[in-house]
Amino acid sequence: MDFAPSEELQEFLGHVSRYVHEELYPLEEEMVQEHKSWLDMEPKLQQLRAENRARGWWLPQIGENYGGLGLSVVDHGLLCAELGKSPFGFYSFNCQAPDAGNIEILIEHGNDAQKKVYLQRLLDGEIRSCFSMTEPEHAGSNPVHMSTRAVRDGDDWVINGHKWFTSSADGAEFAIVMAVTDNAPDANPYTRASMIIVPTSTPGFILERNVSVMGHAGEGHASHGEVRYDNCRVPVANTLGDVGMAFAIAQDRLGPGRIHHCMRWIGICERCFDIMCNHAMMRELSPGRTLSTKQFVQGWIAESRAEINAARLSVLHAAWKIDKVGKKAAREEISLIKFHVAGVMQRVIDRALQCLGAAGMTDDFPISKYYRHERAARIYDGPDEVHKVSAAKQILKRYAVETVPMS
Ligand SMILES: Cc1cc2nc3c(=O)[nH]c(=O)nc-3n(C[C@H](O)[C@H](O)[C@H](O)COP(=O)(O)OP(=O)(O)OC[C@H]3O[C@@H](n4cnc5c(N)ncnc54)[C@H](O)[C@@H]3O)c2cc1C
Repeated sequence: MDFAPSEELQEFLGHVSRYVHEELYPLEEEMVQEHKSWLDMEPKLQQLRAENRARGWWLPQIGENYGGLGLSVVDHGLLCAELGKSPFGFYSFNCQAPDAGNIEILIEHGNDAQKKVYLQRLLDGEIRSCFSMTEPEHAGSNPVHMSTRAVRDGDDWVINGHKWFTSSADGAEFAIVMAVTDNAPDANPYTRASMIIVPTSTPGFILERNVSVMGHAGEGHASHGEVRYDNCRVPVANTLGDVGMAFAIAQDRLGPGRIHHCMRWIGICERCFDIMCNHAMMRELSPGRTLSTKQFVQGWIAESRAEINAARLSVLHAAWKIDKVGKKAAREEISLIKFHVAGVMQRVIDRALQCLGAAGMTDDFPISKYYRHERAARIYDGPDEVHKVSAAKQILKRYAVETVPMS
């Protein structure tokens, strides 16, 4: 296994690192200092997106035949660690969730008409999209248990249901909705739901609110919508893939997406680590004696470095396995990194905050924002516990003594 980037990629990563420091960090500062919202920042972000697209920094994980850079999962992972250092990084390269996942499933499962109407405009960065699976009334960890129904009426689906945490629904052009389409009581729970494309302008698509998360309702791309589908009628032709394929497609959507998240989290760890080390070297407890001379602080630094290094290698290994044998065969590794890296990030953010003392609580540093918003990493795309159980089951199969039921 060799994760060393090629010379060409190394050079590209160097450019991207400078871009993140010189172009994105000042935008973050402007956002905080001038109390601007994500929407206030959009014009500048759109300008950056246009510049990035013109120089070919666009859709890094997507094949060249669709206008992307066609990076392998490993190479894209290395890029994600750079872009992840800023909350604007992924967006400015048009590889942000939830659009990245939607692009991938539209490429894999969309028909020609869907690709023309929905995919192309996502690839061009003209529109945004959202993914609408989780329901407030049901455990999202087990999405086979859901209430949203799509009932066929002639050539249409009529959708009724209630979703939340439909991230980025605010301002999205369309949602990909998961709904039960086979209402027979004995229907197979894994094949009774379908994915349906719903333009958000459709009557009956109601964005009720942006859910307030850790004190912020957010807006635009940076938001999590609560959505009501009230007799929302769309053509059956909007079904993505075959009827009943929702769970199979959902699995496709989440595999590489978890690598992207994990490497983004590594980027966050690196940024917090740098802030922590710089602060430890500068902050004087008494004249000439800085925090860095204290063993507690040295412990935070050593533990963080060890955890970040190990996490980075685990993610690259999972990415390498996807590149070599595909996402299905890498399921165990994907589950392991999903909970492990989320935990490492949480600990590194916490240590950095502690090291800065009161300054860590302020918005003068990005740590407080990460502390609030990245806690969710242990929940979305499958909570820790679900991934632990899934990985353990796969591991234990190698030790199975036939007689013990595994569920
Ligand atoms: C920031 C953020 C963004 C999101 N974006 C989207 C999105 O764009 N689209 C979308 O559809 N959804 C989205 N979600 C929802 C996310 O997919 C769900 O939160 C997740 O699947 C967990 O479902 P739940 O919240 O209903 O928790 P539940 O399923 O009710 O679980 C609650 C807790 O129970 C525990 N638990 C669950 N299952 C098990 C188990 N088998 N064994 C032991 N313990 C268990 C876990 O600790 C879990 O946190 C987002 C969530 C967040 C926080």
